[in-house]
Amino acid sequence: MLGGMELDEHWMLAVQDAFALANAVGPAFAHGKPLPSEPTRSLPEVAVLGDTGRELWMILRAVAAGDTAAAAERLNALLDLMDARPRMARRGPGGFWHLQFVSSTGGESTHLVIATGMLLGSGDFVRIKGCQAPRCERVFLDSTRNRSQQFCSTRCQDRVKTASLRERRRAREDTPS
Ligand SMILES: [Zn+2]
Repeated sequence: MLGGMELDEHWMLAVQDAFALANAVGPAFAHGKPLPSEPTRSLPEVAVLGDTGRELWMILRAVAAGDTAAAAERLNALLDLMDARPRMARRGPGGFWHLQFVSSTGGESTHLVIATGMLLGSGDFVRIKGCQAPRCERVFLDSTRNRSQQFCSTRCQDRVKTASLRERRRAREDTPS
């Protein structure tokens, strides 16, 4: 295994949020269907989230494609833009203290950007993958032990399986017997 820093639950939750945000706005296609390119926006915070999500998606796609240098460069540019500052915060009065990142420009998405940086810096970025199914550009975190996951979901896995079955059947029918 490369590196070896395990992220704790607090950061892993933020990593999952980062992937969810990236997949909500980044891909042109997901699960074989086109995604609307411009989500409806009203609040400035939504616009910031959308922009950050698209940038996160580009970063995660770069990692999935093996271009960690490009991903790191993009992430650094995003961090510069956000001017993130660490603060101690707790969930509720009795909750555990944890390190939270805030910024005047990035809003809530700042924390997700930092979490992505921690994932890349943990050496565990080999788990960051892009879906191998046609017409799906989603990114996902491979949670299998042997890092063998190829698709973002069972939905995409089933699509590919059905398509290859159909392909084989057609090939059989085309062959004169
Ligand atoms: Zn997929």
